[in-house]
Amino acid sequence: MPDLSVVSVCLPIPVATAFTYAVTEQQRRDLVPGRRVRVPFGPRSMDGWCVGFPHAGDRDDPRPGAKPRELKAVEAVLDDGPLLDAAMMDLAHWIAETYACSWGEALSACVPAGVRSGATSATVLHARLAVPDDEALAAAGRLAAKQTKRSRILRILLEHPEGLAVRDLVRAAQCSDSPVKTLAKHGLLTITDRAIATDPFAGAAPEPPADVTLSQAQEGALAALSAAIASGGHAGFLIHGVTSSGKTEIYLRAIRTVIEAGRQAIVLVPEISLTPQTVARFRGWFERVAVLHSALTDAERRRQWHDIRGGRADVVIGPRSAIFAPVPNLGLVVLDEEHENSFKQQSAPRYHAREVALERARRASAVVVLGTATPSLESWIAAHRGPLRLLTLPARVGTGTLPKVEIIDMVRETLDTKRRDLLSRRLVQVVKRTLARKEQAILFLNRRGFATSVFCSRCGGTLRCRRCSVSVTFHRAHGTVLCHPCGEERPMPQQCPDCGGAGLARLGAGTERLEDAVRSCFPGVRFARMDSDAMHDRSSYDRVLGAFGRRELDLLLGTQMIAKGLHFPSVTAVGVVSADASLLVPYFRAAERTFQLVAQVAGRAGRSTAPGTVVVQTIQPRHPALLHAARHDFEGFAAAESAERARYHWPPHTRLVRVVVAGRSDHAARDRAQQVADELRTSLPPDAHDVLGPAHCPIERVRDRFRWQVVLRAADEPVQRAAILRLRRLSPKARGTDLTIDVDPADLT
Ligand code: ADP
Ligand code: ZN
Repeated sequence: MPDLSVVSVCLPIPVATAFTYAVTEQQRRDLVPGRRVRVPFGPRSMDGWCVGFPHAGDRDDPRPGAKPRELKAVEAVLDDGPLLDAAMMDLAHWIAETYACSWGEALSACVPAGVRSGATSATVLHARLAVPDDEALAAAGRLAAKQTKRSRILRILLEHPEGLAVRDLVRAAQCSDSPVKTLAKHGLLTITDRAIATDPFAGAAPEPPADVTLSQAQEGALAALSAAIASGGHAGFLIHGVTSSGKTEIYLRAIRTVIEAGRQAIVLVPEISLTPQTVARFRGWFERVAVLHSALTDAERRRQWHDIRGGRADVVIGPRSAIFAPVPNLGLVVLDEEHENSFKQQSAPRYHAREVALERARRASAVVVLGTATPSLESWIAAHRGPLRLLTLPARVGTGTLPKVEIIDMVRETLDTKRRDLLSRRLVQVVKRTLARKEQAILFLNRRGFATSVFCSRCGGTLRCRRCSVSVTFHRAHGTVLCHPCGEERPMPQQCPDCGGAGLARLGAGTERLEDAVRSCFPGVRFARMDSDAMHDRSSYDRVLGAFGRRELDLLLGTQMIAKGLHFPSVTAVGVVSADASLLVPYFRAAERTFQLVAQVAGRAGRSTAPGTVVVQTIQPRHPALLHAARHDFEGFAAAESAERARYHWPPHTRLVRVVVAGRSDHAARDRAQQVADELRTSLPPDAHDVLGPAHCPIERVRDRFRWQVVLRAADEPVQRAAILRLRRLSPKARGTDLTIDVDPADLT
């Protein structure tokens, strides 16, 4: 018999056990698993999840001989009913076991914070300058030395005359809201409550479906999907089709079939491709489309969530967390650009939306479609060995042809010209011709700032962050040096802090320096820069893209922000200013990332009738990733890369678990990492794994905390699971160190 007076509660903290609390009779009647409760925890209250009703005998840890502990009581039963049903609770349990987090953390990840907090706020806080620009600029200068966050906030607001939502402002300034409040107190800015500033999608008018006759390849792919949907069982597909090969036309038709069968579809896209253009296209086909995106107010999010749960949305579009959308009868999940890193969450629970999609669909007997021009090696192999099925769209639709890709050897270029120009002669020529034809160009450089390092010509040292083991980047816009890992910004020093030398040289090029090169090579060109320093919120991003789409701009330059699924028919020249930024990193996915990058940016060129040219600048012109990308040969690249990974035992031929131990004491962190490594080495079958480390992480210190890592390579999934089981028993905090476990890590920095 379950004990009617107690309840098991999981809390969103990294502790793997459930806690037992006492309930009143009334509370017991109200409670079902999946409903939230407020409970006392330590000195405070916390909201957690009712997960069941334990038997009297299995209350947690009554130590032998000790007096049975007095149970604490549930303070309140929350919400009108359960927020999660049994299926979602089971899925959360799977996530906890798979990604080594607590059940409570996984449960909380399944429901958006706005729904959980019960917030009904229909407004967002909005900040704008309260003083004239010159006054704000003077204040920013005064504050630059000591109060860098406040200084940064003022500078950001100077670039946004109409102000910014506070949450966008703090994200852009990488700070909490306390410096914003301080500035308000000092009268430099005002904070007001505003109805949602701009819902970028509210105005996305439905775009009528294009009148297209599907190609044979499209028909074939659609037939396979439709058959799977009609069968009512689970199946997974990978659609490999270059950009503009007509994948979305297939998704739309498959979704229609699902809706006709009375089921719902979830469409996952990388946050950056969640554009009004995309949404308008889906709205043209379907009436009841819910869009989950980061700009929603809590009240709006809550309403959407309840609409979805009530079956009042047929299609849900959103970034990775939309995989938890509570649709009542899931029929299809589409994951577009499945290779994208942003599907992996970088904080607990560190899940991958692709794996969660496959698991949720398996449990719901639903179909999953992954689509991309550049499949991840994981999906590619799964499509050849199972369980995925491969569907291929070999060509661009209509008259669109793939652009010509030229690789420029920048070492040669420097020798020939005796100069170190950022843009090669060939790239300048290609862009000039494009502009002369009144067509558009995109230049891509995956490094922010002006100079990527500051170097002392007297002592040979580079300027480093005081708290992190990385060199700082010079940002000309603010006259400061910035540490990218921790966000600390300080004025550019006049002298070398080590030797006092005055000759500080700025090396390496970022997007700010590229701006100069563009101005001097293409006088009079109308252009904009897109990177996270220039684009602080969704609206600035949409504004620039809108202007580019209307051809009020001739050229866009920026970081990976511009490399993603944008569709601009008159872009006929694309330059990759340096492919080396991604190629030279010591990471087993470097070649894959570089191939994807070049293939994706190449996808920007020549999307309509005009032929496109892509120029890739590199100091490694013979690198296989570049040579294959230049030939648009994904299959050749995948075969070579897969063989290489197999030879060196990297995924997808093995499965990784990365453990990072961070602490103020380098020794303590190292010792703890050593224990983790020993634990794994002794507990796992010796032939089925190897353990790398402990070693310092590539970025060995961030915010004054030393970082050590242990990387487990398991031969297969069962061994990986066994390791996770061991690791979950370790305490996340011990002796001043924090331990994080990342399963199938997306990077190893
Ligand atoms: P992808 O999702 O692979 O990038 P889309 O489905 O967006 O490709 O197709 C690119 C463009 O080509 C869209 O404007 C689409 O309407 C159009 N299109 C797709 N399939 C066809 C076809 N069979 N005939 C003509 N136009 C098509
Ligand atoms: Zn730092």
